[in-house]
Amino acid sequence: MKILVVNAGSSSLKYQLIDMETEAVLAKGGCERIGIAGSVLKAKGNGKEKVYEQGMPNHKVAIELVLSALTDGEIGVIKSMDEIGAVGHRIVASGEYFKKTTLVTPEVLKTLEEKTFELAPLHNPAAATGLRACIEVMPNTPMALVFDSSFHQTMPEKAYLFGIKYEDYKEYGVRKYGAHGTSHKFVSQEAAKYLGKKPEELKIVTCHLGNGSSISAVDGGKCVDTSMGFTPLAGVLMGTRSGDIDASAVEFLARKKGLSHADMVTYLNKQCGVAGISGVSSDFRDLIAGAESGNERCALALDMFAYQTKKFVGAYAAAMGGLDCIVFTAGIGENTPTVREGVCKGLEFLGVKFDKKANAAKNNGAIREISAKDSKVKVLVIPTNEELVIARETAELL
Ligand code: AMP
Repeated sequence: MKILVVNAGSSSLKYQLIDMETEAVLAKGGCERIGIAGSVLKAKGNGKEKVYEQGMPNHKVAIELVLSALTDGEIGVIKSMDEIGAVGHRIVASGEYFKKTTLVTPEVLKTLEEKTFELAPLHNPAAATGLRACIEVMPNTPMALVFDSSFHQTMPEKAYLFGIKYEDYKEYGVRKYGAHGTSHKFVSQEAAKYLGKKPEELKIVTCHLGNGSSISAVDGGKCVDTSMGFTPLAGVLMGTRSGDIDASAVEFLARKKGLSHADMVTYLNKQCGVAGISGVSSDFRDLIAGAESGNERCALALDMFAYQTKKFVGAYAAAMGGLDCIVFTAGIGENTPTVREGVCKGLEFLGVKFDKKANAAKNNGAIREISAKDSKVKVLVIPTNEELVIARETAELL
């Protein structure tokens, strides 16, 4: 079966067509600037790339264009869209309404639209727009919702509850949901495979470090805690997100700066993190260049990021009562040796023996071991593949 994976943003739509027999990516690409002047689809297939500079006033037109690229005479990889067995949609937030991958029905669509939008106001409405467009264009193809938060559903109550009134958690669903679940699931399973063990035998801390960053404790193949919270604002400081902050400081700052609640949330999401600390950039490449040329605030931002990540590793080792493996993944985790070293430095007491030379080797897209051969705790760099997890979950559901 061939499965189309769709990841829709407010003005973008990324896709991959995956052959589930071989798990090979047959075609992939992305539409940008949907609904804005200058929309473009960059599509790859048959080893070639084609750029469609075509007006895309909405997601329906975008998905129609994607389907025409998939069946294109030059870069197309299928003869007709009937070859697409199902579509898997990436959805960021599920709240407590969806615990696992779910087949789309009119009722499911209603719950998604009526209940979950306020949990991820940037992501879920955009994904629903992409979903509705796909349903219109491919009315007879099964659609699955694959949630970023599903993998975190195994967290125990003591891990996902905040210290607020229990009645308010029940009434409003305010609790930790986590994010990047498909990535944490994928890399923890890959780590077990690489180490020749069953997931049940391992205590792993997975560090998904990208523009958004989250750290998870995976005990016996199940997530038992994660650093992101009610929304993806919590945990370590990120590109532009503050990460954890005392709620009283938020009220204090809002008052001093004259910001409304909504503006304060925007401030914490868009103007803080390493960009706010450095005053230079949210991109770690810029921060590293800045630190190397003597910019102390760039160095401080990098230091804070590694320090906060390290604290989660330590906390999760304690939560699991042991640690066998640390995994680094995503843009920063896969590409930034200084961050990995900063996180692992000082963790010798837990049994981490870091291999600086292996850590410095260039990213070759494969799994890499960056701990010494005799390290009790294995440290791995594993490229993430969220699309493959979405396709697998969709195929399993069918
Ligand atoms: P992601 O959200 O996973 O795409 O990660 C994006 C972030 O990864 C960027 O903002 C960069 O900070 C970082 N990144 C990506 N590639 C590199 C690289 N080659 N070297 C250092 N940082 C990188």
